[in-house]
Amino acid sequence: MVETSGQGRRVISDVAGRLWQQRWLLLAGVAAVAAVYAFANRAAYAVPLAVLLLVAAALVPRRPAPAIPARAGSAETRGLRRLNGEYLAAAVADPLIVFDRAASVIYANAAATTTFGDLSPGLWLPLKFRAPEMQSLLDAVLSGTVASEAIDHVEKLPVESVYRATATAVGHGTGLYVLMFKDQSEARRIDRMRADFIANASHEMRTPLASISGFIETLRGPARDDAAARAQFLEIMQSQTARMSRLIDDLLSLSRLEMKPLRRSGARVDLRRTLESVIDSLAPLARDNGIVVERVFAEGPLEVPGDRDELFQVFENLLENACKYGRAGGRVVVTAGPGAAGPEPTIDVTVRDFGPGIAEEHIPRVTERFYRIDAEASRAQKGTGLGLAIVKHILTRHNGRLSIKSELGKGAAFTVHLPAN
Ligand code: ADP
Repeated sequence: MVETSGQGRRVISDVAGRLWQQRWLLLAGVAAVAAVYAFANRAAYAVPLAVLLLVAAALVPRRPAPAIPARAGSAETRGLRRLNGEYLAAAVADPLIVFDRAASVIYANAAATTTFGDLSPGLWLPLKFRAPEMQSLLDAVLSGTVASEAIDHVEKLPVESVYRATATAVGHGTGLYVLMFKDQSEARRIDRMRADFIANASHEMRTPLASISGFIETLRGPARDDAAARAQFLEIMQSQTARMSRLIDDLLSLSRLEMKPLRRSGARVDLRRTLESVIDSLAPLARDNGIVVERVFAEGPLEVPGDRDELFQVFENLLENACKYGRAGGRVVVTAGPGAAGPEPTIDVTVRDFGPGIAEEHIPRVTERFYRIDAEASRAQKGTGLGLAIVKHILTRHNGRLSIKSELGKGAAFTVHLPAN
């Protein structure tokens, strides 16, 4: 109801406005009719006089029509009509090519030329994109069987990139077509990482599970009445279940870190106390491995903003690795103090061992999930291959970073750099 009466009012004001605009012509018309009527019988000049009046009224200069408040939709449409197609294509961040019925380039935006090189007007697209899928895409759209079609397009150089290429007819019967590319490389990389992660996690689970199920079978069969074998197998099964539960704990830790944003509570963590309690909690492991842990802490406060439990987990993982893999060195040094002067003050904590160290080619990869230099050694040490991935994740959440220095045969030093403010 409200809508209808609003529309009615708009029509009335529209008509009134137009009548007002043509008022002189209307007035002259009325005067002309009156003149013809009055003088028709008396003089021959009545009709030319009326015509003269009308012509004079038509020549009265008119002001432009007052702007009628435009409806949002129509304003936008008028704006779009004024818009130059070339500007529009240039404003698109993804590669975009406009081509004609002969599949020749009419226009290519900057993103397209940066990605695919020369795309000068007139260039025949099938010559530029030779993949059969691209040819059939162009054929399908140019033949008019479909208005829009998409394919996956792979560019091998400079690095392999995957695009979703869509060809679409522009409007109706314009003879113009648009070919647009959406970069899918990052999404594909994440998909692949996720698939690899699931495959790795399943493989890690399957190994202890297969071992447990093998022992169950033996215990129900050949070793049914062998008390000594039973005791030994049960012990192995227990250690395998412990391995599975460590793996689940680490996986849950990682997913929690990914799901939960870091609370910026303003809380400060006393790294001295945190490191002391990490060293205390790992004293039995150090003792079992014949490791002496030395502390070199700088004077003064060693505080950083962050989550105490998460930072505890970082130092626990690093010290545990130093005790396990650096066993041969017999000692581990934990150093904490202000970092080297830089744009932002940091507190640096280094866990240094004197074991076999890490070869240069492995250093950039040890923080990847499930990456191990020696898988058997890691499993023997009850490793899951996730410890350093968790460390890296937590440090990223704290705006910190991890640096690793190592030389084969001389041990490894893992340094945590945490912003002090
Ligand atoms: P894991 O659970 O296997 O210990 P991490 O992510 O903690 O997993 O470590 C990944 C790999 O990095 C380990 O398997 C090991 O090969 C190597 N590594 C970690 N710390 C050290 C170290 N201090 N010395 C030598 N190698 C190390």
